[in-house]
Amino acid sequence: MIDLDVLVVGGGAQGLWLLNDLTKRHYRAILLERRELGSGQTCHSHGLIHRGHYYDDVDMMIILNAAAQFWEAFVDEKGVSKLNPSRALAGFGAGTAVQRHTYFWSTAGLRFERCENPPSALQGGKVKHLFETDEFSLDASEIIEALVHDVDHAVYKLDDHGGDLEFVSEGASIRHVIAHLSGEEVTLRPKFVVFAAGVGNYGLLAKLGADKNVMRGETPVQAQRKNHMMVLRGPELPSITAVFPIRGGLDGVFLCPRRDPDSGEPVWLVSDHNSTPFPMSPSERSAVDPHPSEEWVQRMLVSLRSTAPELLTDRSAQGLEVAVYTGLTSERNFGVGSHMTDLYIDPLGFENLLAIWPTKLTMTPFASNVALRFIRPKVPEPAGEWPTVEREIKLPGPQTACEMWRRAKVNGPHECKTDWTPYPEFMNRWHVNLG
Ligand SMILES: Cc1cc2nc3c(=O)[nH]c(=O)nc-3n(C[C@H](O)[C@H](O)[C@H](O)COP(=O)(O)OP(=O)(O)OC[C@H]3O[C@@H](n4cnc5c(N)ncnc54)[C@H](O)[C@@H]3O)c2cc1C
Repeated sequence: MIDLDVLVVGGGAQGLWLLNDLTKRHYRAILLERRELGSGQTCHSHGLIHRGHYYDDVDMMIILNAAAQFWEAFVDEKGVSKLNPSRALAGFGAGTAVQRHTYFWSTAGLRFERCENPPSALQGGKVKHLFETDEFSLDASEIIEALVHDVDHAVYKLDDHGGDLEFVSEGASIRHVIAHLSGEEVTLRPKFVVFAAGVGNYGLLAKLGADKNVMRGETPVQAQRKNHMMVLRGPELPSITAVFPIRGGLDGVFLCPRRDPDSGEPVWLVSDHNSTPFPMSPSERSAVDPHPSEEWVQRMLVSLRSTAPELLTDRSAQGLEVAVYTGLTSERNFGVGSHMTDLYIDPLGFENLLAIWPTKLTMTPFASNVALRFIRPKVPEPAGEWPTVEREIKLPGPQTACEMWRRAKVNGPHECKTDWTPYPEFMNRWHVNLG
């Protein structure tokens, strides 16, 4: 039996950020991960650290901008590189009430300046008002490596075939958790448990009988969404980080730059504001096809061309390759049918449990602080110097995942990734005609 202050389940950005915060505060905490660290939503993401320029709600801007402060400090402390060599851009189409937006940005404390020299890739496109901002993009895998650096003594890989975690609860309190680690059955006795397992929160909550909104017609406590991303690789791609909200004829596009580790060529991660809800059982199985529709691929390319026409001319498209992938996001479902883009933290009626759904990588430090506010009254912060910690259990930890667009294969039942395909062939395969 191992006594712990806090057990964190899930080794994405959220679980690892919280583990760092707990460790800095001397809590005896460990984290359990079932696959590779970051292999869920975190390494599917663009790693875009939002400040809110994309959003319409001033409260979202304020929260995101505040959360981005944590990331600025993280980048400085850990030496993680921002992937945008020049300032990130936010742009609107003609006819947008630009003053109204910039007024909201100012109200929320967001920094921005008019961009005097728009990149040539955007010339001739629908972007008519362009601003420089302080948003930035990070490599999600580097984030995970930096987050695990100081806490790897406390991170463990669950056995693939050892069965799932088992929970022994008494009334509204979790007493024991049984885990299988390197073929051994280990009983943990945590004072507090945090589910930071992304899509996996649902299955964990089902084990505790907490997967339904009891007061809301037994609807599931969690909703899932499929998100498609397009990836472009080619020698002509400029290094741009940008968000183009749906305004003034623009269809909403995010762009984040990367570099292909094999060919050295520039890469663009591109997405729009797509996401499709779908039902899933606690076993995480459902008959949903993860592939994007031809209609989505067509729409994405039309949006991209109207934003960056220079990119898809016959000349510049030579040597361009395209791939698509799909990742899942999860969020708290309140049974009211609306899509939540905020962060949600919920004890679900338990005394010593929290489930966290950050919905954005950007929000994870913020969510970690809110979680600490729940934990502290139940488990007072231990006093003393920063502890020198030894591995609690003498077993190896999990590996770190690389970003999804770089993977040859994907694991999850609802994920997919296509091979790099030359642009003309890609257009034929997906029956796209840009006219
Ligand atoms: C395609 C896509 C693009 C995105 N782009 C951005 C972006 O640019 N900027 C932004 O701010 N946000 C973005 N997001 C959202 C962001 O990625 C997520 O909000 C964030 O990564 C969630 O982190 P997490 O740690 O809560 O979840 P996850 O990263 O999903 O981590 C959960 C971990 O728990 C593990 N796990 C699950 N079940 C169990 C179990 N039973 N036992 C043990 N471990 C378990 C999983 O293997 C996983 O490693 C994007 C999301 C997607 C899908």
